[in-house]
Parts: sequence; C-alpha cells; structure tokens
Amino acid sequence: MDERTYTADATPDDTVTVAGWVHELRDLGGIAFLIVRDTTGKIQVKLEKDEMDEELVETGLDVTRESVVKIVGDVKEEPRAPTDVEIVPTAIEVVAEAETQLPLDPSGKVDAELPTRLDNRTLDVRRGESKAIFEIRSTVLRAVREAFRSFGASEITTPKIVATGTEGGTELFPITYFGEEAFMNQSPQLFKQLMVGSGLERVFEVGPIFRAEEHNTPRHLNEATSIDFESAFFDHTEAMDVCEAIVKAAYEAVAENCTDELETLGIDDFEVPDEAFPRLTYEEAIERINATGELDEQLVWGDDLPTEGEHALGQAVGEHYFITDWPAEIKPFYIKDHDDDETLSTGFDMMHPRMELVSGGQREHRFDQLVEGFEQQGLDPEEFDYYTKMFKYGMPPHAGWAIGGERLIATMLGLDNIREAVLFPRDRQRLSP
Ligand code: ATP
Ligand code: MG
Repeated sequence: MDERTYTADATPDDTVTVAGWVHELRDLGGIAFLIVRDTTGKIQVKLEKDEMDEELVETGLDVTRESVVKIVGDVKEEPRAPTDVEIVPTAIEVVAEAETQLPLDPSGKVDAELPTRLDNRTLDVRRGESKAIFEIRSTVLRAVREAFRSFGASEITTPKIVATGTEGGTELFPITYFGEEAFMNQSPQLFKQLMVGSGLERVFEVGPIFRAEEHNTPRHLNEATSIDFESAFFDHTEAMDVCEAIVKAAYEAVAENCTDELETLGIDDFEVPDEAFPRLTYEEAIERINATGELDEQLVWGDDLPTEGEHALGQAVGEHYFITDWPAEIKPFYIKDHDDDETLSTGFDMMHPRMELVSGGQREHRFDQLVEGFEQQGLDPEEFDYYTKMFKYGMPPHAGWAIGGERLIATMLGLDNIREAVLFPRDRQRLSP
C-alpha cells in the first residue's frame, strides 16, 4: 500500500496522504469541510469551491458518508478546526463508496438499538463508544497476559472440541466429530489442571468457553472468554492473591493507557481498586445477607446465594470481594474440601455487586478422593480416565480460578449488558454474524 499518515500524526507544513472514512460533510456555501476519520481520530479537509480544481471539489462534495477516501494534501495550522489543523487537498480519491442508506449512523447522532448494532458490528465499531470498549478490552487482555507472566505463568491453549465436558451434563453443546458425538468445551478446567503436573507447573489461558445455558440474561453468553489460571503448590488463599493482583493489573492498565477511551465513554470516576478485596466466609455472607432484610426468606446453610442476596451484600461490602469456605456439597467435585472439616470446601467466588466474576479453589489432587468425587457427582470416572490417570503419576497440590473476560470488562465500565463487550455475541437469539 502507498505510504499513509494517520490523521493524528498530520503535522503542519507536511504534505501527507491520509486515508479513512468520510465522517461528515459540512457545506457552508463557498467553503465546505470534509471530515475524515481513521483509527486515530478525525481531520478536517477544506474544499474552497471557487479556488480549487473543480473536479476535486466535486468529488469531495459528492462522496457519500462512510465511504473510504484517500486524500493527498498540505497540512495547515487552523485554530478554528477541531484538531487545530486542516488539510488543503490536491487529490481526493474515492477508494470504496458507501451506499447512502446505512443501517446505523456511525457518527452516533442517531441512536440504534443493541440488536441493530450487533447485526452491523463493522459500522457500530466505527462509533467512538463502541470502539472505546474494544480498545479497552484489548488493553485488559494484554495487561492480564503481562501480569500472569510476571507471576511466572506460561500461556497455554487447550482443546475446545472434547469427548466429555468438564462437569458433564446439561450445559454442553454437542457436535458431530467424524460421525461420533463430541462437545464444545465448557471450561479448560481439566486440561489446565493436567498441566500443573507437567513441567510447566503454572499456567494461564485466555480462550473461549461454550455453555448451552438456556436462559437469556445480561450476564450470560453461550460463548464467553474465560481467563484461567492454575498453579502447582498453591492453596486457595494464594490463588486468591493472584486473582486480586490480576484484576487490579487490568484496572491499572486501563487507567494508565485508556484515558481517551474512558472519556469517550463518559467515565470520569474510574478508580483502580487499591484496598485488599474483603474475604468473607460463606457463613458470614449468608448472615450478612439475612441481616440486610432484603430477602423474603432467610437463607440457611447449603443454599446457593440468590442474585438479590449478592446485590445486597455487594452494597454492604464493596466493589470486589471473595466468598470462601462454601459448603462442599454445592461446589464441583474437583474442588478440595478443607482437611479439618470435610463439609467445607476450599472453593471461592469473587463477586461484584452486579454478578459473580470468578470461581476458583484448591483442587483435589489425591487420586482416590478424586475418583470418589466423580462418582458422588453422578459422573462415570472411566469417561475421564485421560484426566484421572495422571493423578496416579505424581500430581502436586494445586489451585486456580477462572474469571469471565466479558464480565470483568462490563463491571469495570458499568456496561449494563455483557454483550456490549463482545464483538459477535452468541446467545439464544444470535448465531450470526
Ligand atoms: P453463573 O453462576 O453466574 O452462571 P458459573 O458459576 O456457572 O456462573 P463458572 O463455571 O464458575 O460460572 O465459570 C467461571 C467464570 O466464568 C464465572 O464466574 C463467570 O465470570 C464466567 N462465566 C461463566 N459462565 C458464563 C457465561 N455463560 N457467560 C459469561 N461469563 C460466564
Ligand atoms: Mg461459578
């Protein structure tokens, strides 16, 4: 491609070629301004009708909004222009013309409903707010990768097509694999555990998880991005320490690198959490929820925490907090129970007042107990032989967790639906685009 200058880099007295989209045409009579937008911003291109080449002016006046154009010209200082500079063009080329009827208005002047925006993501992510979310998402993913590496974890990728699900059962999407039934993986849980027993010891993965959840809520997707961590020789408290550090690193990176994006989103009170995340036991959590009086019925030991209860607790405890020591019976089989009390699990959740962000725990690494756990959960340990057998060959104690990437971003930015943080969401209504 020909050399091209980003609009943000256009410096007075330079002759440049810029390329981008026609954001707007402002025709003031004798003079008109073509506003050209690229990934770095916008620039004003001046068209003086009586003074410039007629054909050039005509091309500029006729081009439709959102067409791709290439402009060659001289950059001039112009204090009245939005960016203090403008281009006086010597050539305007329409590279790809856009139809006059657009399914949504990328300038954002006309609001569009979320389904329309999702159907036309290309145009939607030309909008400043949408683009800002995905720039922030990119920053978050980079920050968590760097933070994991600073903890000595190796990045892995594990299969998404599997013979059996992590927890078996209902939330699996079946597929046909060369004539046999297979599934889309609902979590890298078992694979990441297998790797703590390998020479890698400490691993992380950022990748898709697939959940055939029937419900349609603002916090569930059928394909989500899971940020997973697992480490050998860790207990659940050490896993929580890393979890807290990773979440804080994501916030810090956004505060440091995304000031423009936060401004575009109208977020002027972005705060990096600086206090330690409170750690409440499940027992304390139900007592505190009951004390808020927000629930019609008091919770008793063994109940799952209802969403209203989590909200109420969040108001009282803060933005991020852990709930630890869950009843063993409501946590999955691969989570280890406390050695001194087998009714209590080492599982933990990290909560935000709006939704659960993380589940984790120390894992059961003892072969006999693990196999027993499968049976208790109604699963056939034989089907998981590829996993359980490795526990016979020296599997260290280990712990880890998973955070939903979209939930992290949605709570960080106060987005009311996690679909805002996914380019092409998969849900009950959406399989395309
Ligand atoms: P929930 O109870 O909120 O449905 P979960 O307990 O079923 O979540 P886990 O299996 O613990 O979810 O998965 C770990 C994390 O992955 C969750 O805390 C959440 O952040 C994220 N996650 C799980 N399922 C989904 C989903 N369907 N859509 C988006 N994120 C999800
Ligand atoms: Mg969970």
